[in-house]
Amino acid sequence: MQANLDFCLKCGKDASNIETCECGSTTFAFGFNISLIDSILVCGCGSKVFKIVSDSKFSEFTITNYRCTKCDNLIGVQCEVDKFQTYGLEET
Ligand SMILES: [Zn+2]
Ligand SMILES: [Zn+2]
Repeated sequence: MQANLDFCLKCGKDASNIETCECGSTTFAFGFNISLIDSILVCGCGSKVFKIVSDSKFSEFTITNYRCTKCDNLIGVQCEVDKFQTYGLEET
């Protein structure tokens, strides 16, 4: 799995190596073959539905891993503890 943060889950800006996006969001999505279209996280296969596979809590942030329900693509969402907002991320 790629460890680099990829983009802000709220506004879609590139969020590599930053902790807080300029929009104020601290929730970032990372992974391969994903993009944010109209504020909704979309897998490269076209699916917008992801299911949670794991949830790891660290002292300052939480990383939740999801898999695309269609092609099994693994993605992650990092957010500050207790500030999780799914924005456009749909879950099953
Ligand atoms: Zn942002
Ligand atoms: Zn997919």
